[in-house]
Amino acid sequence: MSDHFDDAPSLDWALATQSIRAGHERTHEQEHGEPIFPTSSFVYGSAAEAARKFSGEEPGNIYSRFTNPTVRNFEKRLAIMEGGERCVATSSGMAAILSTVLALLEAGDEIVASRSLFGSTVSLFDKYLGKFGIVTRYVELSNLEAWAAAITPRTRLLFAETPSNPLSEVVDIAALAEIAHRHDALLAIDNCFLTPALQRPIDLGADLVIHSATKYLDGQGRAIGGAVVGRDKELEALFGVVRTCGPCLSPFNAWIFLKGLETLNLRMKAHCENAQAMAEWLEAHPAVTRVHYSGLASHPQHALASRQQKHYGAVLGFEVKGGREGAWSVIDATRIMSITGNLGDVKTTITHPGTTTHGRLSDEQKASAGIAEGLIRVAVGLEDVDDLKADLARGLDALL
Ligand SMILES: *Cc1c(COP(=O)(O)O)cnc(C)c1O
Repeated sequence: MSDHFDDAPSLDWALATQSIRAGHERTHEQEHGEPIFPTSSFVYGSAAEAARKFSGEEPGNIYSRFTNPTVRNFEKRLAIMEGGERCVATSSGMAAILSTVLALLEAGDEIVASRSLFGSTVSLFDKYLGKFGIVTRYVELSNLEAWAAAITPRTRLLFAETPSNPLSEVVDIAALAEIAHRHDALLAIDNCFLTPALQRPIDLGADLVIHSATKYLDGQGRAIGGAVVGRDKELEALFGVVRTCGPCLSPFNAWIFLKGLETLNLRMKAHCENAQAMAEWLEAHPAVTRVHYSGLASHPQHALASRQQKHYGAVLGFEVKGGREGAWSVIDATRIMSITGNLGDVKTTITHPGTTTHGRLSDEQKASAGIAEGLIRVAVGLEDVDDLKADLARGLDALL
């Protein structure tokens, strides 16, 4: 392999170039595009070579639960884009979070996490990790004193999503990393909503970046997958979990994500442009009582979001007049948007968090999480924004 295909130069490239060019180890076929290797295992030229590969004396593929060239291509590209030393891909975003915990924590250890997390993450922490003696304490995302106060000598991991879903709250990643490190804990940031195109948590001091590749990294709702990016030390432990326990990414899905990454930079710019226009329009609509989007000057953390993010993402929440009934009527009046809880897709999605994504919370938990009855979440896609506004205007105008 010539130096031309070495990874080192790609560290100096801009993100758009990395997302298209980084990580491809061209084979002897001299292919232009990234190949898919749909094979469960790999063969050796001799028994001695097999022995060297199995012992680890010589690097190379053995079995696709351990390594696969297409998966490795995706891992290298994402590691470079996030500014990490290494990436391990997983079968889903949840598998990424589970593998992280299995690799780095043991019974008796504790997690401190933000209260506004993806629903399945909370179930994983409470219902499943709880069974094995790992305790999770929840704090308000933006309250740094609360994070510090929840840490005990057994805390190993701080875990946050920023900006949060659906209220677009933000935490100061650099300050949170400092708190984590002062207590010998690691900071993991779930970077699903912004992706490395808009936010690079490792640059700000985070130790681990978690992805559901299912969302914007793919961007077109085609496949489930996940990834963790970080330092060699922690990622080697994570690799051990994936290799042994089996939540590995399929080469087909890795290839889809490689194709997704190629347009990530462009897509995220367009998503943000549509979301900003939509948020400003919603804020001015008389049937809307509140808009939650960190790109608005009215957002309490607009300055922090502007400092640590390149842009504000495309997930926004807004509250309408008429409570649940009002919200449902706006959702039901749409003709373009998909009524679904998914996000990170070129197709705009709309949902009522209070009865879907956050439906299992008690009234008290909803109140403390800010999930109002009139709250609607839109993950703004790439359709024409005037068509999207008209789609919402139909129901909003009827509320007046
Ligand atoms: C979807 C999502 C996950 C879980 O990812 P899957 O690929 O669905 O397993 C985790 N975190 C966030 C923020 C998500 O949006």
